[in-house]
Amino acid sequence: MTTIIVATKNAHKVREMNELLADIGDIKLVTMAEAGLDVEIEENGKTFEENAVIKASFVAKETGKPSIADDSGLSVDVLGGEPGIYSARYASKDGGNATDDENIDLLLENMKNISGNERTARFVSALALCFPDGRTYTAIGACEGLITRERRGQGGFGYDPVFFCNSLSKTFGEASADEKNSVSHRNRAMMILREKMRDIEF
Ligand code: IMP
Repeated sequence: MTTIIVATKNAHKVREMNELLADIGDIKLVTMAEAGLDVEIEENGKTFEENAVIKASFVAKETGKPSIADDSGLSVDVLGGEPGIYSARYASKDGGNATDDENIDLLLENMKNISGNERTARFVSALALCFPDGRTYTAIGACEGLITRERRGQGGFGYDPVFFCNSLSKTFGEASADEKNSVSHRNRAMMILREKMRDIEF
């Protein structure tokens, strides 16, 4: 059994990654807390991929165990890709993370004059799997959709209630966990990473 430490404090991401890797028999994901690591990792990269590598490589070096990280966010076309890598802190006043509700309120406010066909957006997830010896594997996935005018559904987290997923024809907030996982940006990145993991020596 190989233990991989998930380099995040976001319980939603840990749950989704566990669900997405559930059928790989000999891998066990553990949280940073379970591994006894309580640190804030500064995400000062310029891309999702750089930030994922920063988080996973830090945790791999600290713990001596392989680590996997997701850096993800929402990219809205009419806003020039915002909130992008700043998705978690979009509405923050002090540089720290804002609440999901604050972020959604600001997004809807900034898009209140944008017409329906200009509300295109995508969720992006970059995954990085890093080893203490420096080996690094990355994968990127995206999921296309539209930003709604109001929240719909109670499921998921983050911007899920205002992200209308084209392939599900409903918001991620209205989707079940299985429905979201079947098409999500994180799932698409995980599929690519899983292919790479077949050939990796743990
Ligand atoms: P990170 O922890 O820096 O990667 O921040 C990711 C942020 O992007 C989260 O706090 C959410 O606001 C948003 N985000 C990423 N993935 C999702 C998702 O699957 N659903 C909704 N929001 C997401």
